[in-house]
Amino acid sequence: MKADLKKVNKYTAFLKIPYIRIQRKEMIMSDTIHNVVIVGSGPAGLTAAIYASRASLNPVIITGRNQGGQLNTTPEIGNWPGAFQNPSGFELMDSMTKHAKNLNVEFISDEVVSSDLEGEIKTLELSSGRKVKARTVIIATGANARYLGLASEEQYKGKGVSACATCDGFFYRGKEVAVVGGGSAAFIEAIFLGNLARKVYLVHRRSEFRAEKIVIDRFNKLVDEGKAEYVLDAKVTEIKGDGSVVTGVELDIQGEKRTLDLQGVFVAIGHNPATAAFAGLKRDEVGYIETGFERETQTSIPGVFAAGDCADPVYRQAITSAGQGCKAALDAQHFLGL
Ligand code: FAD
Ligand code: NAP
Repeated sequence: MKADLKKVNKYTAFLKIPYIRIQRKEMIMSDTIHNVVIVGSGPAGLTAAIYASRASLNPVIITGRNQGGQLNTTPEIGNWPGAFQNPSGFELMDSMTKHAKNLNVEFISDEVVSSDLEGEIKTLELSSGRKVKARTVIIATGANARYLGLASEEQYKGKGVSACATCDGFFYRGKEVAVVGGGSAAFIEAIFLGNLARKVYLVHRRSEFRAEKIVIDRFNKLVDEGKAEYVLDAKVTEIKGDGSVVTGVELDIQGEKRTLDLQGVFVAIGHNPATAAFAGLKRDEVGYIETGFERETQTSIPGVFAAGDCADPVYRQAITSAGQGCKAALDAQHFLGL
C-alpha cells in the first residue's frame, strides 16, 4: 500500500489535483469486490470473460503483458473451426478481444505479481501495486517460451537469438537461420522463415517429431526446394557470436561436433506454465495448476478456477484452452450461485 501512495503523490503533484481526492478514489477502487476476476487474455481468459459477461457477472480481465496471449506470435491458424481462411494469430485474438469488449468486459492492462486466494474474498496484487478483490478468480495465464538455458543464449538474446519468428523473422531476410525444436511450433516457425531467409536449418535433439504431419509435410517441400535442411539427433551446446551478434551454433551430433555458420537462432522448444504468482495453489512439479477439485476447472482452493495452458500439460491448443475457459466461467457462476 505504501508504494501505491508514493505513486499517487507523484501523480497528484504533477497534475496539481488535491491529493486527498485521488487517495479516496484509490481506496474505493481497492474496496470494490468483483464477482469474477480473470487473469490472462489469451483464448482461455477471453472465452471465460465472454461467458461470464453473458451470465451478467460483470467480469474484469487482467490482461498481463501479452494481451491476446501466445497466438499473437503465429503467422496463421489452420485449425480454429470455421476460420478456414487461416487468419493470423493476431487477427483471431484481436477479434476475440473485440468480442469481449463489445460485451463490456472491463480490461485492466497490468499483471498479477502475487495473490492471497484463501477465504471468501480473494486478493490479487498487480505490478502497479494496485490490489484487486474478487469472490472468484479464473486463472488463465498460459505459458511462457522455454529457452535452452545456455549462457551464450542469454548473451545473444535480441542479438540473433529469438523465440518468435513472426516478431523477428523480418531481420533475417536473405540470411541463414536455425530453428531449434521438433514440435508443431518449431515447424511453423521454420516454414515461416523458409520463405524469408536464404536457408533454414531445423535442429532437433531426436529424429522423431511431436509436430503434426501437415506441418512436417509443408516443411519437407522447403527441403525439396533446397531452402531448408534437417539437422537431427543434434544438441545445441553453444551459440557462437562475435561479441555483438550471433555468427553460428555449435552442435553435438551423437558425440560428433558440428558448427553451423548462421545469423539467427529461433528457439521453439515449448513453454513453461506462467503460474509463479499463484504459489498458494497446488501445482505439479513443472508448475501446472492442478484442477478437478469438486468441479472440472476448480483448483485446490474453492472459488479459484484455472483454464488453458497454465493448467493443461497435455492438449495445449487454442480450442481446448477456450473450451476450458468456458467451463471455468460456468464453474465460477455455479460457485457464486448466480
Ligand atoms: P496464452 O495464450 O498463453 O495466454 C496467457 C495470457 O495470460 C496472456 O494474455 C498473458 O499476458 C497473461 N498472463 C500471463 N501471466 C500473467 C500474470 N501474472 N498476470 C496477468 N496476466 C498474465 N494452438 C492451436 O490450437 N493452433 C495453432 O495454430 C497454434 N499455433 C501456435 C503457434 C505458436 C508459435 C505457439 C507458441 C503456440 C501455438 N498454439 C496453437 C498453442 C496456443 O497458442 C495455446 O494453446 C493457447 O494460446 C493457450 O491459451 P491460454 O489462454 O491458455 O494462454
Ligand atoms: P512441444 O510440442 O512440447 O514440442 C517441444 C519440442 O522441443 C519437442 O520436440 C522437444 O523435444 C523439444 N525440446 C524441449 N525441450 C528441449 C530442450 N531443452 N532442448 C532441445 N529441445 C527441446 O511444444 P510446441 O511445439 O511449442 O507446441 C506446444 C503446443 O502447442 C502443442 O500442444 C502443439 O500441438 C500446439 N501447437 C499447435 C500448432 C498447430 O498448428 N496446430 C502449432 C504450434 C503449436 P522432444 O520431442 O525430444 O521432447
